[in-house]
Amino acid sequence: MRFLADAMLGKLARWLRMMGYDTLCAADMPVDDDDLLNIALDEDRILLTMDRELYSRAEDAGIKAVLVQSKDIAEQLAQLVREVGIELRETPSTMFCPSCNGRLVEVSKREVVGLVPGTVMDTHQKFWMCQSCGQIYWEGRHWKKIRETVQEVKRLLQSS
Ligand SMILES: [Zn+2]
Repeated sequence: MRFLADAMLGKLARWLRMMGYDTLCAADMPVDDDDLLNIALDEDRILLTMDRELYSRAEDAGIKAVLVQSKDIAEQLAQLVREVGIELRETPSTMFCPSCNGRLVEVSKREVVGLVPGTVMDTHQKFWMCQSCGQIYWEGRHWKKIRETVQEVKRLLQSS
């Protein structure tokens, strides 16, 4: 399952990448609505949009699309669980780079010496590097935030 998000949905695109879904975002590319429809069709991507008109054009063209209803990230993720069945994964080993959609590979502690703060080196054993932009990731403080949001999504799903 791969996605293509419109320019309004940059945050959702980053979250989907963190959950292990290959997600392109219109905000990162010089594209118009026609291009978006073509990319979704050519690359078999689910189009995510808040634009009703773009959504109906996608439907008419036989492209799988989701009309995102909320501006809240937890509600957006809950909608995708319900409508297309995404899994709420929260492990870096399956994720795509949130900033560029590149692939992450696990790297050894030795390889990140000098590239991450000393306090991080002292407290973490596992590191991942983006093969496209070189960004390094570890299960740091932001991971707590990710888990909290996942819990929030699960609550929303239970209460609906
Ligand atoms: Zn990257």
